[in-house]
Amino acid sequence: MKFSLDFYYLLRMAGINGKGFMRVREFVKSKSPPGTHSERAIFFDRDGVINARILGGYVRHWNEFELLPGVAETLREIKQRGYLAIIITNQRGVGLGMMSEAELRAVHEELQRGMEQKAGVRFDDIIFCTDLDDSLGRRKPSPAMLLEAAEKWNIDLANSWMIGDSMSDIEAGHRAGTKTAYLVTPHSEEIPKATKVIHRLEDILRFL
Ligand SMILES: [Mg+2]
Repeated sequence: MKFSLDFYYLLRMAGINGKGFMRVREFVKSKSPPGTHSERAIFFDRDGVINARILGGYVRHWNEFELLPGVAETLREIKQRGYLAIIITNQRGVGLGMMSEAELRAVHEELQRGMEQKAGVRFDDIIFCTDLDDSLGRRKPSPAMLLEAAEKWNIDLANSWMIGDSMSDIEAGHRAGTKTAYLVTPHSEEIPKATKVIHRLEDILRFL
């Protein structure tokens, strides 16, 4: 099931509607010439990792965005170590009509401005999915957004990390072929099987 979801995602990216596997193979080859996916990245989930989660709700405006401790310091350090820093986030609140995509983008622009002030650097990218459910195959736990980022930024997924506070983050990372770090929060119930379990965001620096 997992394989078929990813496979159809690939077909969709290639603009192919079942016209033959050879073309898919050519597409994969053209997108992934050996040795060119050389960038390493740290992928961050957003809510619960970068900012405090609003339980049962959504961050709709910047004044509801509570930056968590250690984010600016961790971002500065991972950029110094040559990693890309990319947020990968499900934002169903847009799909539910609780906020607009423009409002979501405004929150992200404020976050980037805040990081510039606090850390002197920005996240390289913020990739979000506003789908309501998993049926379109892009929301985490699908690896789709991670695969998009890898194509866009030339990322070596095996030498990259996905950090998140949900099972779906860890599953997405696992399916994309990254290393995974589960961040334990007060809301953690079950600890998923991840490459590392961390209790503070900056703990990731010990493994890079
Ligand atoms: Mg989260």
